[in-house]
Amino acid sequence: MIKVTAIETGKARMKTAQQTGSDQRGAVGRKIDIFRDRNWVDPLPILCFLVEHPEGRFLIDTGDTWRNSVPGYLPGWNPFYKQVSIRVAPNEEVGPRLAAMGLDPARDLSAVVLTHFHHDHTGGLDHFPHNRIIGPKANYAISTGLRGMMTGCLPQRWPVWLKPELVETDGPGIGPFSQSFPITRDGRIALVPTPGHVAGHCSVIVRGDDMTYFLAGDATYSQENLLAGRTDGVTNDPALARETLRKIREFCAMQPTILLPAHNRDGLRRLEQREVFA
Ligand SMILES: [Zn+2]
Repeated sequence: MIKVTAIETGKARMKTAQQTGSDQRGAVGRKIDIFRDRNWVDPLPILCFLVEHPEGRFLIDTGDTWRNSVPGYLPGWNPFYKQVSIRVAPNEEVGPRLAAMGLDPARDLSAVVLTHFHHDHTGGLDHFPHNRIIGPKANYAISTGLRGMMTGCLPQRWPVWLKPELVETDGPGIGPFSQSFPITRDGRIALVPTPGHVAGHCSVIVRGDDMTYFLAGDATYSQENLLAGRTDGVTNDPALARETLRKIREFCAMQPTILLPAHNRDGLRRLEQREVFA
């Protein structure tokens, strides 16, 4: 029996130009559009997902931390961080959320899986000092040091103990994804490469008995944008991001699949109502 549960860890707001980039604009133009945009989207959930599988429980992403919204946490020299607003209360972090579900990470989680290393996916890592942490090697490579700090990562805030198990998607293909990294021995939970939002980004496919789940991370912010082939304002490679969206659409149409992006309230409704991709 495989079960997927959404865990909301606070709220994020972004500019409309971040949520949906202009088709006409390249990588730099999209960033300029975000800075010029005066319109903010309504607060979006910051989601993690708990996947229960016969081999154990797996947490996909860790959300952000309450510290994100206190002065001094974000690097003041990087104006990009002012284009996103994170609001997490201490008891909304993923650790307290799991505790409220009766789960102790050290005892009850087999691994934490990161889709990518942006701060709103790694901010909850402090709760998992005793866990196996799995992340995409290709994304980690661009997320450390100054380069990471310039592109939405906060390596200076990662826990001192963090030594993620960096994986490459060199396993068997799944549908339109020519490669994967199986997380469970039966391959029913697997990482697939979905680059575009950032290089090396991965999504998580969960194949249950009668339902498949596509945990998209930030590969897309919404099912509408996915269907329309609209990429975000963050991408440095719009063509690659569009190709990723095409693959996700193709995969989701292959079998009944619930699409679950990391910042999408409709995803919560789809999960609750078992509404499949169409
Ligand atoms: Zn991201």
